[in-house]
Amino acid sequence: MKPAGFLCNIDNLGRIVIPAPVRKTYDLNKGDAVEIFTDENGIMMKKYNPSCIFCGGVENISSYKGKNICENCIKKLSNLVDE
Ligand SMILES: [Zn+2]
Repeated sequence: MKPAGFLCNIDNLGRIVIPAPVRKTYDLNKGDAVEIFTDENGIMMKKYNPSCIFCGGVENISSYKGKNICENCIKKLSNLVDE
């Protein structure tokens, strides 16, 4: 990680504002989810892109019982059921 050149204050509800240039660079828009990672060096966040639990794909993702699955894997699984 390298410094982004911004200093943010945490408000009384624990929130920070991600500076507009950073939001633009990382295509973070209102309502987007971010995933938070931690290690011994600090905290990192990434735009959350749901991926399929079976193949890791990120296209045409649906959620079933809290798990993400892509359309291709849904088709393959339904073929298993039909056989
Ligand atoms: Zn898949």
